[in-house]
Amino acid sequence: MQIKDLKNLMEASNFNFKKKFGQNFIIDDNIINAIISKSEIDTETLVIEIGVGAGALTSKLSEVAKNVLCYEIDESLKIILDAVLKEKSNVEIIYQDFLQANVLDDIKKYEYKKLYVVANLPYYITTPIIMKIIEDKLNVDKIVVMVQKEVGNRFKAKPNTKEYNSLSIFLNYHYDIKKLIDVSRNVFMPKPNVDSIVVEFSKKVNNYKVRNEDVFYKLIKDSFVQKRKTLKNNLKNYDLEKIEAILKKYKFDLTVRAEQLSIDIFIDLANNL
Ligand code: SAM
Repeated sequence: MQIKDLKNLMEASNFNFKKKFGQNFIIDDNIINAIISKSEIDTETLVIEIGVGAGALTSKLSEVAKNVLCYEIDESLKIILDAVLKEKSNVEIIYQDFLQANVLDDIKKYEYKKLYVVANLPYYITTPIIMKIIEDKLNVDKIVVMVQKEVGNRFKAKPNTKEYNSLSIFLNYHYDIKKLIDVSRNVFMPKPNVDSIVVEFSKKVNNYKVRNEDVFYKLIKDSFVQKRKTLKNNLKNYDLEKIEAILKKYKFDLTVRAEQLSIDIFIDLANNL
């Protein structure tokens, strides 16, 4: 189905867009084609899509992927999706809140060589969705997601920038992250009041591994509690002598701020405290 037919179908069905579910649907073929070609999906790939909307992206994903497993919270979209995707035999839609889903269980029945997540995410839960994908240990090879521009910039932030925070460190430990596409707010229906970018996360092989991810994540969160403060202030409950000894190797002392430290230094700290 062409995008213009989809627009007509949405209008004819009197669909009520729900702000609370972050419903801004893509109405531009170019942007969908760009997402598809940059994702490099092939016929060995199982794609998970979170938030199907009216199925514009889903439909194209089904043409290039082996299977597309989708989650959609809004069951009132079912009538539209049954029509739009009726010939797409490799698409499964689970009408459920993705954050509550047992995805490991849901993907068991599929055979695939690569597992990707490709989605135009509901912006109100972008970070919880990304965290769930990592914490569920789905072993996703690549994530290609449309997100709010500011949020995407934080995901891929590097040390010594204002966007760099505990989440950027955690995400950049697991994935190489880069921006793929700038997206104008005009390609959505209804038009949101923020700009978007498409970001790619590719699974990273870390030579230097974190021994305990909970310890690592707690340390980085504590280090950034008050961003403008020094580690000495933020990590009062830690063994500061040990921390100082480790920092010395990198020519820093306890007056350093978390935003100045690279991922490797945080790994060293977390592994040796
Ligand atoms: N993929 C469609 C597109 O690009 O046109 C729709 C994208 S729209 C930004 C986000 C979609 O996510 C909506 O269809 C919304 O109903 C759905 N959604 C919101 N919260 C969700 C949740 N917790 N679990 C699954 N889907 C959700």
